[in-house]
Amino acid sequence: MTGYLYSILKPFANFSQVPFIDGQLYFIPLGGSGEIGMNFNVYCCDGQYLIVDVGITFADDSTPPGIDVICADLSALRSVRDQLVGIVITHAHEDHVGALHYLWNQLKAPVYCTPFTASVARRKLGEAGLLDQVPLHEVLPGSLLELGGFQLEWVTLTHSIPEPNALVIRAADRTVFHTGDWKLDPHPIEGEHYDDGRLLSLGESGIEFVVGDSTNATVEGWSGSESECRKALHEVIASQPNRVAVTCFSSNTARLASLGDIAHETGRRITVLGRSLFNYLQTAKATGYLKNFPDLVPTEDLDYLPKSEQLILATGSQGEPRAAMARLAKGEHQDLLLEPDDTVVFSSKVIPGNEKKLYRLYDLLSQKKVRVITEQDAPIHVSGHPCRDELRWMYRALRPKVVIPVHGEERHMASHSQLADEMGLGSARVVNGDVLQLDPTGVNCIARVQTGRLGLSGSSLIPLNDRALSERRALADGGLMTVTVVLDKKARLATEPQVQFVGVPSGDIDPETLNGDLRYAIEEILSEQNSRTLQSDDGLRSALQREIGTLVRQWLGVKPKQLVNIVRL
Ligand SMILES: [Zn+2]
Ligand SMILES: [Zn+2]
Repeated sequence: MTGYLYSILKPFANFSQVPFIDGQLYFIPLGGSGEIGMNFNVYCCDGQYLIVDVGITFADDSTPPGIDVICADLSALRSVRDQLVGIVITHAHEDHVGALHYLWNQLKAPVYCTPFTASVARRKLGEAGLLDQVPLHEVLPGSLLELGGFQLEWVTLTHSIPEPNALVIRAADRTVFHTGDWKLDPHPIEGEHYDDGRLLSLGESGIEFVVGDSTNATVEGWSGSESECRKALHEVIASQPNRVAVTCFSSNTARLASLGDIAHETGRRITVLGRSLFNYLQTAKATGYLKNFPDLVPTEDLDYLPKSEQLILATGSQGEPRAAMARLAKGEHQDLLLEPDDTVVFSSKVIPGNEKKLYRLYDLLSQKKVRVITEQDAPIHVSGHPCRDELRWMYRALRPKVVIPVHGEERHMASHSQLADEMGLGSARVVNGDVLQLDPTGVNCIARVQTGRLGLSGSSLIPLNDRALSERRALADGGLMTVTVVLDKKARLATEPQVQFVGVPSGDIDPETLNGDLRYAIEEILSEQNSRTLQSDDGLRSALQREIGTLVRQWLGVKPKQLVNIVRL
C-alpha cells in the first residue's frame, strides 16, 4: 500500500498550480472515491485532461432541506478548461451520467459514449435545452479512440444496465484499466456478454493499473446472474392469485425483459406506472433492446382485465415519495387502487438510508392486506457490482501491478485494497481530490486539489456549506420570527411594533397574548437604548435580536431565526 502522507497536503485551488511532470500519467478523482455516487474522474498527461464519468448523488439526512441532487464542485478544473480533450461516460446510471446536463457548461468538451448511454444523455441534455450545443459522439462497444494523447479502448462488461464499459486508457507508456461498474454475469438476459478472451489478452499485453469498482468488495462469493433472478421472479409471480405490482430500478433493462417474458408465460398483461419507466422502455427499444417486450395495457383498460391477468410495473423501488409505488401504497394513485390479496414485489435492494421510507411503505401496504415480497423473502434481486470472487477472477485475468479502489465508501475501498494485497498485487488508496502519479514502481499522491459538493437549488448549483443553505437549515430546525419597528424622525415608535412567527409553535401560550407581551417588551427595549443606538440600524437590530431572542427562549424554549426590520419615516 502506498501514499498516505498526502493527507497533510494543502489542496491547490486550480489544476494549473499542480506540479505535474511531463511524460507522466496522473489520476485525480473529484467525486466517487470515498462515496458511492457522484463519479467524476480526471486523467492528466502532458497538459491534457480526460474526464471519465459525470455523475450525481442524491441527498441524505445530512443534506440541507430542499436539495435533492448533488454534483461535484469543478472549480479546480476551471483554469485548465481549454486543455480538456473529452468527456467519456462509461454507462448510463445516474451516478455516472446524471450531472452531464448540469455541469457541461463548465466543461464544454466533446462527449463520448455508447449508443444506449447517448440516448439517455440526449434526453437529459434535451430537457436542459443543451442538445444543440453538446458535441455527443456515439462509440460502439469494443471501439478504439484517440483523444489527444490518450488512447482508449472500450471493453464490454456486464452490470445492471445495457452497455456497461470498462476503458483501457493508454498514455505516456502507461496502461490503466478503468473498470466502471461491472459484474461477471454469464447469462445477462439483455445485451452483450463480457468478453473473457479480451480480458485475458489484455492481461497478457500488460495492464499496470486497475481503477476499480469497490461497491461489493466486502461481500464474499459472486453477485449472481440476472437469469437466476428471473427464475425466482417467475416463481413468485406465477404463484400469486390476484394482481401483482412489481417495482425495480427503471434502468435495469434485463429485469424489464424478464418481467415482459414472465408476463407472457403466466398469462398476464403489463401496465406501466411512472415516467422514468416509460423513458427507459423507450430508450431501450430505440437502441435495439427489449425486442420481445409485450405491448402495454393502458391504465384506463385495466377495469376490463381480470386481476389475475394484471402485472403492474411501478417506479419507486426506493420509496421515493412522488413515485408510483409510494402513491399506490398510500392509496393516492389516480389510475389504480391496490386491493386486499394483491401482491407487491420489490425486485430491488434497499439502498442504505432508504430503510425508513421503505418500511413505512411495507406497513401501508400490509394495512391494505396487500402481500409484500422483498429480496428477504425470495432471491428476486441481484446486484450489478462484483463480489470478491469476481474481483479475484478479474485480477487473475488482468494481472495488474497496482489496484486503485474507487466507487465505494471507505470500508468498501479498504476491503478492496485488502483483497488486492492478499493476491500479492499492489494497492493504493485514494480519496476525492488526490493527485495520484501512476508510476509502476509505486503510485504516489503528489498533491491534492480542491474538491467539494454542489447542491442543485432551483436551477443553480451552490456549495452545500453556502450561507443561504445554512440559513435554510436553521429555518427548518427552529422556524422564523420577524419583528418590524417603524420609527419617526426622532427615533420614537411611530406605530405599534409587529411580531410574526412562521413555523414556531407557541405551546401552552395563547398566540395573541404572546404577541402582546412581545410588543410590550420591544417598546421597553427601545426605551432603554441610548440615542446613539437608536440612530444606528445595526446597533438597534442587534440589541432587539439579543433581548427578544432571550425572552422567546425563556417563554417558548426555542430559538427561531430572527429577522428584524427597522423602518424610518
Ligand atoms: Zn456506479
Ligand atoms: Zn452503474
